[in-house]
Amino acid sequence: MASLSTTVIGRRSGAALSGPLMRGSTPVLAARFLAPALAASSSGSVRGISSSSSSKRALAFDPNDLDTPGARSVAPAPSPDGTTRHNWTREEVAEIYNSPLLELVFRSATVHRTLHPKNSIQLCTLMNIKEGGCSEDCGYCSQSSKYTTPSTASKLSDVEEVLVEARKAKANGSTRFCMGAAWREVGGRKRGFDRILTMVSEIRGMGMEVCTTLGMLTPEQAIQLKHAGLTAYNHNLDTSREYYGKVVTSRSYDDRISTIGNVRDAGISVCSGGILGLGEQADDRVGLIWEMSRLPEHPESFPVNALVAIPGTPMENNKPVGFPTMLRTVATARIVLCKSIIRLAAGRHIFSEGEQAMAFLAGANAIFTGERMLTTPTSSWDQDKGMLERWGLRPMASFEEDTMQAHGAAGEAGSAGKDKSSDLTAAVAQA
Ligand code: SF4
Repeated sequence: MASLSTTVIGRRSGAALSGPLMRGSTPVLAARFLAPALAASSSGSVRGISSSSSSKRALAFDPNDLDTPGARSVAPAPSPDGTTRHNWTREEVAEIYNSPLLELVFRSATVHRTLHPKNSIQLCTLMNIKEGGCSEDCGYCSQSSKYTTPSTASKLSDVEEVLVEARKAKANGSTRFCMGAAWREVGGRKRGFDRILTMVSEIRGMGMEVCTTLGMLTPEQAIQLKHAGLTAYNHNLDTSREYYGKVVTSRSYDDRISTIGNVRDAGISVCSGGILGLGEQADDRVGLIWEMSRLPEHPESFPVNALVAIPGTPMENNKPVGFPTMLRTVATARIVLCKSIIRLAAGRHIFSEGEQAMAFLAGANAIFTGERMLTTPTSSWDQDKGMLERWGLRPMASFEEDTMQAHGAAGEAGSAGKDKSSDLTAAVAQA
């Protein structure tokens, strides 16, 4: 059992907090941060305080207590790292989402600066390695074969073509390289899948984080990807469970959650987020974040997309999402999914630089950059590097975040994921 008699651990280095928060120049804030923890300590249940082990970053507060006046009392269910909570109620998430916007941003910025490297933004590049011709009917997507759109169906890219793009991304400062194939599922595409395994292995060998999004995966396929060196798998939940049927009919919410489970069980980190502007209501955005918070592990990465309406799709006439909605979603996600990377994904280019900076303040800490974002535009590396410089931000290194460090260990040997993956391999072999 943890004890508050040990040092209150600060972020990253394990050093004791010694800034103004602790020295008393902001006594109200300090009281807000520490009072709940002290109260919990005296009752024998320390919420959000880890042991004195300096290897772990710990929260000295529960994000839910940030507005202590009018305090709620929700039984904490922290994860083993003492920070993430898996017992958020939907009402709590809604209350956060609907709070006054600048107050919300202040709260989320506080959580962000406590748990994440300050001023650090990850640059990721996404390559479309197999465009169009997808048999799913996602109502926002230009790559669905159900709609007549500007996208054309292509074959799976060659390995070398992809490696050229990955090297270019790395040379330009991207530390995560993502590859997307417009498939409902990997299914029986053995030769294509083998080619993707080679891509993953080669790019991981460059020292980059590697992510793929290939549709639904079986447990065996997830294990193969893990063994090839995959660090993350993207599989978005898109929106709330209730609204999902208005967006996609060719698969269910539970299909998505099942693949996310296969990915997680293989020891691959999960990238799963949503899209704003699908015609959803605020409660659907709340529902999305709430669903994420209930997963056995919060996603390592939560991408937030703003719909780019594509002619020919059922959502071609949807209005662009307003920045306050984007900001509110980012800030709520930062508080509820406090350790996840929050990624500004498709549609970022519609927001001004000042708006993007506000999203970074609220807790967004990754962007997609490069030449294209699957089928939609994105800002270029040069534009984005200029933006980071103007706002005093720096590009994040590969495997810099705590949640990614195990994946960055040499050969990934000994990581929890590897262990789980090995167990699963054995289980599959016995089945
Ligand atoms: S599964 Fe992916 S590629 Fe296929 S229609 Fe849906 S979003 Fe588009």
